[in-house]
Amino acid sequence: MVLDQSVTVLPNPVTASQQSNNSSLDYDVAIAGGGIVGLTLACALKDSGLRIALIDAKPQSAGLEQRRAYAITLMTGQIFSGLGIWDKILPRITTFKQIRLADETSPAVVNLQTDDLGTPELGYVGEHFVLVQALLEALETAEHLTWLCPAEVTQVDYQADAAVLTLTIAESTQQIRAGLLVAADGSRSAIRQWAGIHTQGWQYWQSCVTAVIRPEASHENIAREHFWESGPFATLPLPDNRCQIVLTAPHAQAKHWLDVDESVFLAELNRRYQGQLGKLELVGDRALFPVKLMQSREYSRSRLALVGDAAHCCHPVGGQGMNLGIRDAAALTQVLKTAHQRGEDIGDLRVLKRYERWRQFENLIILGFTDLLDRCFSNHWLPLVAIRRLGLRTMRQLRPLKTLALQLMTGLSGRSPDLAEATSLKNDPANVSLS
Ligand SMILES: Cc1cc2nc3c(=O)[nH]c(=O)nc-3n(C[C@H](O)[C@H](O)[C@H](O)COP(=O)(O)OP(=O)(O)OC[C@H]3O[C@@H](n4cnc5c(N)ncnc54)[C@H](O)[C@@H]3O)c2cc1C
Repeated sequence: MVLDQSVTVLPNPVTASQQSNNSSLDYDVAIAGGGIVGLTLACALKDSGLRIALIDAKPQSAGLEQRRAYAITLMTGQIFSGLGIWDKILPRITTFKQIRLADETSPAVVNLQTDDLGTPELGYVGEHFVLVQALLEALETAEHLTWLCPAEVTQVDYQADAAVLTLTIAESTQQIRAGLLVAADGSRSAIRQWAGIHTQGWQYWQSCVTAVIRPEASHENIAREHFWESGPFATLPLPDNRCQIVLTAPHAQAKHWLDVDESVFLAELNRRYQGQLGKLELVGDRALFPVKLMQSREYSRSRLALVGDAAHCCHPVGGQGMNLGIRDAAALTQVLKTAHQRGEDIGDLRVLKRYERWRQFENLIILGFTDLLDRCFSNHWLPLVAIRRLGLRTMRQLRPLKTLALQLMTGLSGRSPDLAEATSLKNDPANVSLS
């Protein structure tokens, strides 16, 4: 287990055993950002023969302190399985087999079940530190990986054959040369902005309050998405009968739910559950997040690729953001490994465009899906209320509609990366891809 090893490792000298494309480079790939997406990419590339630098402004152990939980899709489970870390993660997270969708107080509740998709489960919920711990453990033995952290990327110069990164490490600066820079530096990506890559999107009128609660009654391993006029309200089942909640509301209202006394907050949750979960206990602090939708116009430039939140962000409804980033990492790995095996220059724009063509459109579909969900349901315009309730009733009756929604939500639509390892899902004939 990698514990607090917040060390600054300076670039390794090139050794004969390292299969470099270009010996004038310090690294073949520099990954800027060691969040879950950057770590996943490093893990996926660790045996590729490429020399990797993983750079993060925070110490290596920072991710082990984060208690936030995520909805994890079936596709992410398959990718982690391909990375050989799923067996470590699965016993520490919750598996859910039912998703319950409800609209305010309407009785038209939709229950999505495993039969609707033909899979043994519909998804998982796990905490940030659990995923980070498994990824760090897998990286412990990576021979061609150099950690540079805490180190901040403060400047990038793009040359014909390399990206030259200036790093600030403690008080000093240092330069490294990499054949490819991957920006995994989050939604406010400085690397994307320095490269002048434009984005499209908007800030929502809403923010999210997140918290972990422990209800008196069993959460029954059901993932709940309850749509209210103020915004979606998700309840994700965690181990020890805890639930991660994500309450979306207009900014001022969300701030109010962040600041109010704990008892008032819990009373509001209780009202939303109509008392069905019994007495509620708050476990830990509440946190507030602004919500935005963002899509980069380009995911690649010569010597540069964007992944995860650096490339796109979406509304948290449906719990998709991190899952899309993990899929980016798996797709980019496949493109880079193939190019490397063919002897191509992995930082060449023609290579990187293969990744962009693969992921940009697929991500756009999910961004659009989450936006549509939020706008349709966070609305009290009577004709729209009538249409969406009719939609929910129709969905209850029509299994193909449920299947379609589930394929989008579980990540099983679109092109599957090679890394997504055959699990019980792939053997199931009902698991049809949309691609
Ligand atoms: C309320 C809420 C709920 C969510 N729920 C879900 C969910 O249920 N499921 C889901 O899939 N997604 C969810 N998401 C989205 C998810 O949190 C993000 O998509 C995901 O965390 C992005 O990961 P990342 O690795 O791309 O970026 P980040 O986690 O932001 O990591 C970026 C890393 O880059 C480093 N960095 C930044 N700048 C530099 C620099 N200049 N030099 C060096 N290092 C740098 C940072 O230190 C950081 O470690 C949710 C989001 C919100 C707001």
